[in-house]
Amino acid sequence: MTNFVVGLTGGIGSGKTTVSDLFEQHGIDVVDADKVARAIVQGGTPTLAEIVETFGEHILLPNGNLDRAALRSLIFSNDKAKQQLNSIMHPAIRAELLHQLQAAKSPYVLLSAPLLIENKLDALCNRVLVVDLAEEQQKQRTLTRDQVSEAQVEAILASQATRAQRLAKATEVIDNSGTAAELPAQVEKLHLHYLALTR
Ligand code: ADP
Repeated sequence: MTNFVVGLTGGIGSGKTTVSDLFEQHGIDVVDADKVARAIVQGGTPTLAEIVETFGEHILLPNGNLDRAALRSLIFSNDKAKQQLNSIMHPAIRAELLHQLQAAKSPYVLLSAPLLIENKLDALCNRVLVVDLAEEQQKQRTLTRDQVSEAQVEAILASQATRAQRLAKATEVIDNSGTAAELPAQVEKLHLHYLALTR
C-alpha cells in the first residue's frame, strides 16, 4: 500500500492520457476517475439502483444498463435533477477512488482526473501535476483526435476550469506545447522527484 497520491489533471486534449501512460511505463499505478465514474453505474451496482429509484426505470436500456443518453437529456437544463444526480454520484465515486488508491502497490499512485480541481479531488492528493497547454492547442488536438465539432470542444472547454485556475493549484507542471517526443524526459524527471518525496 502507498499513501502518496499525485493528482494528474489538465483540460480536454492537454495530454493527460499520454502522460499517464508514460508514468505506467515506470511501474506507477494509475487510478482513472473517468473509468471509476463509468464503472460505478454499471448494471447491477448499488449506485445504478439508487439512480433508478430517483429518476425511474426509463433511464435504463432494455438490457438493464444505464441509458446514458436518456440521463444526459434528463439533467440537461434541469438543475435540480443535475444536483440530485451529483449527490448520488460524487460520494460513490469518491469512495471507489479511495478504495483503488489504497489498493495501489507502486511507491506512489497517480490519480488521473480531468475535473480534479472542479470536483475538489485535489483534497485527496499530496501533489498536483498539471499538464499545461494553451487553449487553442487543446482545441486543435481534440479536433484531430475526436469526431467532434469546434462548437462542442468550445462548450467543453468553457465547462472546465481555466488554465489559470488549474495552474494556481499545481505543485508541478508538464509543458505539453512541444512535441510528444519531449514528454518522456519530463515524466522521468518528475518520476524521480516523486520517488524522492516518498522516501
Ligand atoms: P487528454 O487525455 O488530456 O484528453 P490525450 O493524451 O488523449 O489528452 O492527448 C490528446 C491528443 O493529442 C491525442 O491524440 C494525443 O495523441 C495527442 N498529443 C498528446 N501530446 C501531444 C503533443 N505533444 N503533440 C502533438 N499531439 C499530442
